[in-house]
Amino acid sequence: MIPYGRQDISQADIDAVVEVLQSDFLTQGPQVPLFEESIAGYTGAVHAVAVNSATSALHIACLALDLGPGDWLWTSPITFVASANCARYCGASVDFVDIDADTGNLSLPALEDKLRRAELANCLPKIVVPVHLSGQSCEMAGLAELAARYGFRVIEDASHAIGGRYRDAPVGNCAYSDITVFSFHPVKIITTGEGGMATCNDAALAESMRLLRSHGVTRDPSLMTAPAHGPWYYEQITLGFNYRMTDLQAALGLSQLQRIDEFIPLRHAVADRYDQALADLPLKLPRRMKDSYSSLHLYIVRIDTADSALSHREIFDALRERGIGVNLHYIPVHTQPYYQQQGVEYDPLPESAAYYREAISLPMYHHLGKDQQEQVIAALREVFGQPE
Ligand SMILES: *Cc1c(COP(=O)(O)O)cnc(C)c1O
Repeated sequence: MIPYGRQDISQADIDAVVEVLQSDFLTQGPQVPLFEESIAGYTGAVHAVAVNSATSALHIACLALDLGPGDWLWTSPITFVASANCARYCGASVDFVDIDADTGNLSLPALEDKLRRAELANCLPKIVVPVHLSGQSCEMAGLAELAARYGFRVIEDASHAIGGRYRDAPVGNCAYSDITVFSFHPVKIITTGEGGMATCNDAALAESMRLLRSHGVTRDPSLMTAPAHGPWYYEQITLGFNYRMTDLQAALGLSQLQRIDEFIPLRHAVADRYDQALADLPLKLPRRMKDSYSSLHLYIVRIDTADSALSHREIFDALRERGIGVNLHYIPVHTQPYYQQQGVEYDPLPESAAYYREAISLPMYHHLGKDQQEQVIAALREVFGQPE
């Protein structure tokens, strides 16, 4: 089976991890701050806080922005459940904004419409989480204008999007948001095994997230309530978690980051090849918007159900039978049993529903071989009865 995504581990990556294993620190050593500095440098953000997953990063980002019971977080339903769960960890409620049909990202017109209604009902969101689906940035400038007008904060779920750019600047620089979150799960652009990062430009937010990722414990005298009793002294000043990244993971991340600017153009070459080879099939190919340079985490096609003799499910099954590890990103989150049990009456989200009836993620990773990609293309053409 050709998978839809796969990590690429080099000898240099292995050597970097082994070197940490032979060193004094497996965790809380020098590698994590080095990785943080490198991600800050790469994205242009002032601060970067490493954690053990993007899910943890989303959680502490919400806490740092004071999300709590009685508050609302809005996101788009075409995402992984973690984009919404972060609000529930904080006791806040979640509502969903429909997607843009071309990009699968949160629709700004739908958001504006929902904000207008929420203002009248006095239930505006405290946080909106735009998800950069498949690595293509949302329209962040327009979103930032709405954030200023309606007074909400913005956390970018850029789990797919490290290496992507928006308006010629790296995703993660937080020019239009409070915090950006990245994932380093093995299927993502670069990996640390498990791992995540939150970037921001605000020192207080970064400080707060650093405390929350490590038990709420500090050794910084300026944050303590009492003078130190001695050199052993630390204080717990808030309730935090153990969300720390290990030095093994950070070393892997540092090594992977050195190759990211090779990975992304290779992903674009894979996408270009799909664009050409699939153009005449009854498929909607992914639109690449002019304001953003996608990291191309995913290559999502949509079945033109009106034009295709086979159903979505039949096409999906036929591809899997031919050894093509297609997938579906994602099941609309608000339809999950857990979110159906929340007692929230969600708006109809017709674009998300249409997306779910049509979307298929094709294999997409930078080292997908030419032969393998030809296999994917041949299988698709065969399934549609249009062999090359
Ligand atoms: C992968 C992913 C996450 C969660 O990332 P982890 O690092 O596995 O916690 C969150 N949001 C989106 C959109 C993702 O794709």
